[in-house]
Amino acid sequence: SKGRGPNVPCVCTPDMMEAIHRRSAIADVVRRAAECGGFTVKLQPVWSESERRFVAAEALCRLDDDELGSIPPDEFIPVAEQIGVISDVTRFMLNRACAFIRTYRDAHPDSTFRGVSVNFSAVEFIQDDLAESVLAVVERHGIPASCLRVEVTESAIIANPDAVRAFMEDMHAHGVRFYLDDFGTGYSNISMMLELPFDVVKLDKSILWSATEDEHLTEFFGLLTAGFGAMGSQILSEGVETQEQRGFLNECGCSLMQGYLFSRPLSPDEAAAVIAASEEE
Ligand code: C2E
Ligand code: CA
Ligand code: CA
Repeated sequence: SKGRGPNVPCVCTPDMMEAIHRRSAIADVVRRAAECGGFTVKLQPVWSESERRFVAAEALCRLDDDELGSIPPDEFIPVAEQIGVISDVTRFMLNRACAFIRTYRDAHPDSTFRGVSVNFSAVEFIQDDLAESVLAVVERHGIPASCLRVEVTESAIIANPDAVRAFMEDMHAHGVRFYLDDFGTGYSNISMMLELPFDVVKLDKSILWSATEDEHLTEFFGLLTAGFGAMGSQILSEGVETQEQRGFLNECGCSLMQGYLFSRPLSPDEAAAVIAASEEE
């Protein structure tokens, strides 16, 4: 276009310009939030069908801006990774998760609530002192390390197998539990997965949603659940939205469920109330 000089042809469509503009606006918001802890945390309770109560929760990050409104994590987390502030996001989430665990356990000393999981990104595992810094947060909040759960995706492991393995072994020795996130979406390297100490394997919601009443699929789900069970991991299904899906999972012997059918992600106060109410019934 005009005024760019002959060597800089403009190949940007208005849509592309718009996307570039939005990305840089998000980068500014993320950078600011990282500096001052401007994120918020939501907790989505995890239902145990066998225990008929909420037994855990996943911490999910939220970012709201006056101008851009609520920015979805699928959009701002990749930006936080690219601009190098993802460790600030994780530290913020870890602190909130540990504070929740502390408050909940203090208020409900007889509770069977097991803990909160925090999502870790692939790029974080290159940090040398990651295990120490995470354990320091746990210690500062005075909670048992076994109440903290770290969610790792297959793609994070594949990007950095040695670093992830070392981190997991170190943390596991201190009692921290691990969830394998988004199972079934990437290139599953089953043998590698099975070597790592995952307490819970989280089946991606796309897997559940593609499952029908197909007899073979039910059988396959059952075998998958039993197989992971034999290896010492439980299966948790994400994205449970209907009673039909819940029934399907019951048939497969998959007891841990997370989804809008049970609860949306909630503020920490709301989550505490919902979890406590489920324990009283
Ligand atoms: P994820 O780890 O797979 O988290 C589950 C996502 O599914 C959440 O979306 C949750 O709100 C949504 N969800 C839960 N139940 C249902 C359901 O029944 N139906 C549907 N349609 N969705 C359901 P959310 O909060 O938008 O997060 C999206 C992704 O952003 C997460 O996927 C995770 O990859 C990433 N993310 C969120 N918070 C963090 C964080 O603190 N750190 C990192 N590294 N990533 C995060
Ligand atoms: Ca997750
Ligand atoms: Ca997931």
